[in-house]
Amino acid sequence: MILDHDRARALHAAASEVLPGGVSSNFRLNGTPVPLTFVHAEGPRLFDVDGNVYVDYALGMGADILGHAPAPLIAAVQASLAGGQLFAGQHPSEADLARALRARMPSLERIRFGGSGSEMIHAAFRLARGFTGRSLVVKFEGHYHGWYDDILVNTAPPWGVAGDDGSVPLRVMSTGQIAPTNVAILPWNDASALERFLAARGDEVAAVVNEPIGCNTCVIEPVPGYAETVRAATARVGALLIYDEVITGFRAAPGGAQERLGIRPDLTVVAKAFGGGFSIAALGGRADVMGLVVTGGVLHGGTFNANTTSIAAGLAVLDALDADAYTRIDRAGTRLMDGLRTLGARHGLPLNVQGMPGVFNTAFTTHLPIRSAADYAQADAALQGRFLVELQERGVRPTARGTWFVSTTHDDEAIDQTLDGADGALAALAGS
Ligand code: PMP
Repeated sequence: MILDHDRARALHAAASEVLPGGVSSNFRLNGTPVPLTFVHAEGPRLFDVDGNVYVDYALGMGADILGHAPAPLIAAVQASLAGGQLFAGQHPSEADLARALRARMPSLERIRFGGSGSEMIHAAFRLARGFTGRSLVVKFEGHYHGWYDDILVNTAPPWGVAGDDGSVPLRVMSTGQIAPTNVAILPWNDASALERFLAARGDEVAAVVNEPIGCNTCVIEPVPGYAETVRAATARVGALLIYDEVITGFRAAPGGAQERLGIRPDLTVVAKAFGGGFSIAALGGRADVMGLVVTGGVLHGGTFNANTTSIAAGLAVLDALDADAYTRIDRAGTRLMDGLRTLGARHGLPLNVQGMPGVFNTAFTTHLPIRSAADYAQADAALQGRFLVELQERGVRPTARGTWFVSTTHDDEAIDQTLDGADGALAALAGS
């Protein structure tokens, strides 16, 4: 180890006496040498309890698109708090934020707010089932739509083998989970599997849900024509197309993956980036479908929905995400992706850098291209794990799955530092 983690170890041991595993989410369990504890964050950097500083690419799992503690966001939230935090009633800024979201993502004709991506995905399924009178939801291997029982299936390997109807066997991801009986799973980027499945069971399908760009497994874009096929096939069988843009929303492009791909889904869930690290999510889409929460008997509730802090945060983030902000992310992300590719080649390692400047994935593999979760399973997971540890020890912190998020604050100095760290990390891997 290069860095000292003594205080992190001691705090983790003490925290584990009161927090199971010393953490508040299972996705934070796998830190090396222990899950780290941070005291402060600023711009692109995180500061831990041992005095170590990291250029951060986890960015609150993609939420902190303006970096840490951005002044305009913090000021807007502070100002909102002085006026009260939660009214069990409306505040004028709520509709302002909905209008701002719709201006960027026109398919969001009507919008409801909530607190998390998982929760709004759950609401989307209820609406789709209410609208169609059908119960089956189709999802894709490796796509993650939150941790609720009704959809936490086939998000991690081993991946399945598609049967005659194109679907793979369902696997729940948690002990204690009620296995959903109304979800089918298909391999991603396989138009034939989708067509086979819809030919057999299309009239049962309420919705087809996907991450339009699969950011939870290697950042996999749809192959040319596939997004159009999913859109057309879903409409043909009378099912709704739900885009889970929890990660891609306002990150893949100002109007999200749907803008980048040129597809108009029926319903969309957005979260993470537009809250800038505050707890907010939204479900939006076709006015006739969303209208069922008023006239169709479809219930959507939530004590904390549209609390003033979250709305103020959303407005401040969208205000800051102007053309210049996207240029900064594009520039920094492109430099970083190119730099990592060059370093991988220089060290003779098969480092694959895949995705977009705002969110990309690194993995070690010669099995290219990676178009599905099964393709990604061929990558060297052990080498990836070592790479992430070596990076952390040199002050660079991507997510634990090798996905890198880039913020508007990742300037040249941060990228230089990152590439220096990556050079050392790759040298360590190549030398052993
Ligand atoms: N959908 C996607 C694509 C996600 O990446 C996530 C979270 N990583 C979720 C849904 C769930 O969101 P949350 O953690 O806010 O419940």
